[in-house]
Amino acid sequence: MVDRLTPEQRSDLMRAIKSFDTVPETLVRLSLDAMGVRHTAHAADLPGRPDVVMRRRKKAIFVNGCFWHGHVCRGGRIPKTNTAWWRDKADLRALRRLGWSVAVVWECETRNPERLRKRLARFIRRRRPLVIG
Ligand SMILES: [Zn+2]
Repeated sequence: MVDRLTPEQRSDLMRAIKSFDTVPETLVRLSLDAMGVRHTAHAADLPGRPDVVMRRRKKAIFVNGCFWHGHVCRGGRIPKTNTAWWRDKADLRALRRLGWSVAVVWECETRNPERLRKRLARFIRRRRPLVIG
């Protein structure tokens, strides 16, 4: 049923779903707060509208829901028809071309606060652009 939508409709749908799925994103932001890392949310001026942005450090984080983005932890494969996944890829490339470091944090990675903190700390320390996840 969902596949009958146009790419634009589908993308609107994904965005709508994503906006409800805010718990993992909140966990990421709380973790950054605890580390004293300044950040903002939903940078509308950047490709893909990253969920969390550290402008001074030029680092952006996408927080992906495992189900909707087809993460392997859900038994997901990279489906050729998963437009969300392909759009994500294009956004990451576009951001990197603008000189941003980009990380994708999966919902399942936010469940263990200590692991999440270490993961974010690694990403923040890293100087050269590198995509994780
Ligand atoms: Zn996952």
